[in-house]
This record gives sequence, structure tokens and C-alpha cells, in this order.
Amino acid sequence: MSRADAHLSGARISLRADTMIADVESLASQIVEGSTRALARGLTWVESGGARAEALCARLYPSTGRAQVVGLTGAPGSGKSTLARALALVARARGRTMGILAVDPSSPFTGGAILGDRIRMNDLALDPGVFIRSMATRGALGGLSRAAADAVDLMDAAGLGLVLVETVGVGQDEVDVMRLAHTIIVVSAPGLGDDVQALKAGVLEIADVHVVNKADREGADRTVAELRAMLTLLPSAEGAWIPPVLPASAARDEGIEAIADALDSHMAYQKTSGELERRRQKIVTARVLRIAQDLVAEAVLAGALGPEGAARASLLERVVRREMAPHACARALLAQAASRASTGS
Ligand code: GDP
Repeated sequence: MSRADAHLSGARISLRADTMIADVESLASQIVEGSTRALARGLTWVESGGARAEALCARLYPSTGRAQVVGLTGAPGSGKSTLARALALVARARGRTMGILAVDPSSPFTGGAILGDRIRMNDLALDPGVFIRSMATRGALGGLSRAAADAVDLMDAAGLGLVLVETVGVGQDEVDVMRLAHTIIVVSAPGLGDDVQALKAGVLEIADVHVVNKADREGADRTVAELRAMLTLLPSAEGAWIPPVLPASAARDEGIEAIADALDSHMAYQKTSGELERRRQKIVTARVLRIAQDLVAEAVLAGALGPEGAARASLLERVVRREMAPHACARALLAQAASRASTGS
């Protein structure tokens, strides 16, 4: 490249950077002013990740921290989407605005379900006080919890008072996403087979509020009793919050006020006990750690295709040949990444 060309391409890069800054600035202002179109666009940026999304989130971060963030999880078919809709109606009746983020963790197969959720929520779509978004994070840079946390920030900055994050299923990814919430609702329902058993595998511990949905169905009383019995087995410190087990029928709008009350009580408990500050710290720590992990993994692995790739590949090759232990290789790669970072190469 000639010097003139290099100069020109440098100018183009800085022009692009300037345009990006202007775009970010304008979108951020519109989001803070409450434009739902701008919010929708910002969420699309966040879905795909990258420098633009990072700049937008950084610009909006000082405007966040006001929303009450509620996580909603539970087995597929337990009625989470129906409950989200019912909770939105109650929140609106109580004069609150609400954002619903339906997170689809992985597969193309659940795409239909998310679309179904959208249709079910259609009556809410006309209410400007409710913002609904399903997020396909398949392939999103930095993973599901990064994208979900950024999306919640955008909704928070847009002034939505209550942000409900709904995840499909109860796997580890969902538990990670739930950890960004101030209050976590775990939904179960009678007749879903081993649902209460499945809850044992980690989800029971994260619930602040249990909802046994489909209380209109037979067996609901037993599910409530089983859950209550199981909760007594969990260790609980003196004065700690005891998760209530609330029967509800989301499809009939029954028991929803009690759930909304429980969300408020949990928030009030957290404020007076100092738990809210601790939880906020935990949320931030987990989030920053995740981002840092992703950055480290990127620095260590992405460079394998760069000019030093051959050297790194040969390190990996040595592990394959049993000449080097995996731990030592990982440390060596990390050291290389760190030295590249410090020399800026
Ligand atoms: P999700 O997969 O957890 O989001 O569950 P959905 O909200 O899509 O609900 C799954 C099915 O259960 C749908 O057919 C709903 O109509 C039905 N459902 C939801 N809530 C209730 C309820 O309270 N009672 C009964 N009988 N069915 C319900």
C-alpha cells in the first residue's frame, strides 16, 4: 500500500469511527427519551454484539439501575409466557411500565415456540406501556448471558419500570441468565412429569418465588405441598427470605395479584435487609467476570489464526502428542496473549 493509500484508508477508518459515534449517540438519546423504535433497534445491535453494541451499552450504562429486574424460568409448557402476559396486565393496572425479554437460548427448534409466545401476547403489543421482545441469541457474540444483560440495560435505560426476563427451560444457560435478576420466579405445573424432581437439579436454590401454575388442574395441591416440603429441606439462615409457593392459574388470570405482591415484598425485604446491595454486587461481579473470561478466551484462541498461529498450533500439537500437559499449554497461551496485550501487538 502506498503512503497516500494508507493515509486514505486511515481517514476512512476514522470516518467510520466518527459515524459510529454519531449513530450511537443519536440512538442512545432516543432510547433514553423512551422511543420504542430506537429501543428495538438498539436490541438488534445488542443481539449481534460487536463494537457498536458495546459503545451503545457503555453510553447508556449511567442511565441504568432503576428497573426492577425479574427472572422467569421453569420447564417448557409450565405456562411462563401465559404468566408473563398476566403479570404485565397486573403491572399496567398498577401503573407500571414493563419490558418482557423472552430469551431463546439455543436451538432453531424453539423458534416456533417463541413465535407462538409473540402471538399469545398480541393484545399487549398495542399497549405502549409494554415492550415485548424475543431474542434469538444463537451465535450472539459473547453468549447468551452477555446479550441478555445488555438487553436488560437497554430496557432499563428506556425507563421501563419492570423488566421480566423469560427463559425457555431450566438448563445451566438459563440459570446464568437468571442471575442478572433481582427476583427469580420459578414456575412449575402439575402433570409435567418429573418437574419437581427436575427442580432439584439446581433451580430450586435460585428461586425467590415459586409459582405452581395451572392450579385449575388436578394435582396442583400436591405439587404445592411437594415443593413446600422440599423447601424445608434447604438450609436457611436466620431471618432469610423464605420463598413463597404460590398457586396460580395464569390462563384464567387467577393468583396473579399475589405474585405481583410477592415481587414487591421480596424487593422490600432486600432493601431493608441490605440484601439488594449484596445482590447488585453479585450481579455485577458475575457479569464482569463473564465478559473478562470471554475476552481472555478470545485473546488466547483467536490469535491462533494470526501470524503467531503456527507457534500456538504447535503448542497444541505438543499436548496432542503428550509432550506437554494441558494446564501448561493453557498457561503458555495466556502468557503469550498477555505479552501481546502489553506490547500492543
Ligand atoms: P411456556 O412454555 O412455559 O411459556 O408455557 P405457555 O405459556 O406457552 O403455556 C403452555 C400451555 O399451557 C399453553 O397451552 C397454555 O394455554 C397452557 N396454560 C398456561 N397457563 C395455564 C393455566 O393456568 N391453566 C391451564 N389449564 N393451562 C394453562
